[in-house]
Amino acid sequence: MSITPLMPVYGRCAFRPVRGDHCHLIGEDGRRYLDFAAGIAVNILGHSHEGLIGAIQRQAATLMHVSNLYGSPQGEHLAQRLVDLTFADTVFFTNSGAEAVECAIKTARAYHQHAGNDDKYELITFHNAFHGRTMGTISASNQEKMHKGFLPLLPGFKYVPFDDLDAARAAIGPNTAGFLVEPIQGEGGIRPASDAFLQGLRALADEHDLMLVLDEVQCGVARSGTFYAYEQYGIEPDILATAKGIGGGFPLGACLATEKAARGMVVGTHGSTYGGNPLAMAAGEAVLDAVANAEFLANVRATAEKLRARLEQFIGNYPDLFEEVRGRGLLMGVKLKVEPRGFVAHLRDNHQLLTVSGGDNTVRVVPPLVIDDSHIAEFMDKLSAGAASYEIEESA
Ligand SMILES: *Cc1c(COP(=O)(O)O)cnc(C)c1O
Repeated sequence: MSITPLMPVYGRCAFRPVRGDHCHLIGEDGRRYLDFAAGIAVNILGHSHEGLIGAIQRQAATLMHVSNLYGSPQGEHLAQRLVDLTFADTVFFTNSGAEAVECAIKTARAYHQHAGNDDKYELITFHNAFHGRTMGTISASNQEKMHKGFLPLLPGFKYVPFDDLDAARAAIGPNTAGFLVEPIQGEGGIRPASDAFLQGLRALADEHDLMLVLDEVQCGVARSGTFYAYEQYGIEPDILATAKGIGGGFPLGACLATEKAARGMVVGTHGSTYGGNPLAMAAGEAVLDAVANAEFLANVRATAEKLRARLEQFIGNYPDLFEEVRGRGLLMGVKLKVEPRGFVAHLRDNHQLLTVSGGDNTVRVVPPLVIDDSHIAEFMDKLSAGAASYEIEESA
């Protein structure tokens, strides 16, 4: 037998982390790596947050899992907090981002079909989007690399260019149920939508009675410098998918919706065995305790500004390697002039710096939101050394 016990769907690198220490990871061989990948924008509190660890430990010893057939004081409390913090009136908890997006897609379809409009099922989605790896969420993306081998896709998605309002308007037809969009594309290369685009989608949704569904799985939960990124666009969605940072490393996601948007999500229409269990709720509460306040968010913005200023200044030293810095808050991307995977591997293997590659030749810089000046200094040192040695390698 040549297949590995761990299904070989990832090209895993040689680094094998075994322990976390705040904003660093320690490998099997004892080496320390600066973690500006954070589990791909997940570990927003780093790896040693006492509040998060304590909450999980206490809840694990009290009550880990019960069925959603029972009343949930834990779920009610966290849902109420999310309702108070956002546009939403109601919340469905999931275990992952893809499940949150699935619930969002179902909520948007049910909005129409609950009212008898059975032909309204199509969501307009955007080129280079990433919404997850389930059949529904790969069908929602135009990225063929995720489709290959898994056909047929689910019907009901129409792809148009990102940030192109005219294309979105032209795509509206009799079957359109709404728009599904990342306010800041993550996997696609840290590309923020323009204000005019998101505001235009909101206006089109209002005009045509469509659902505006935001996928904030990567950009949400303080990462962009506001609790959710939509706040920076002066709009509110009807439905929003959130995950990644919301559990701080514990598997947790949620679909948030207004009362109107959730009119089809009635008893018996949706469910999850694990979703919203007391252990996950304890993790979510601990994350909100840490991040859902003005002081934390202001600190994310200030930290991001410092990091961005350093990066902007630095990339000018290597005009053949770097093109631009983009993103919002600590969801940052450095666009390269070369394919980024080699550079990301070089930073990791030769400079013990962890980042993540993304689409459009981007290196994603998505550190824990609790980094301080010392981590920025260490990051810039490693990046400078990495850029210098990479050029040497390239020309050797
Ligand atoms: C990561 C991600 C998802 C999928 O989340 P999973 O937890 O891997 O299922 C969906 N949408 C966006 C924008 C993401 O970044």
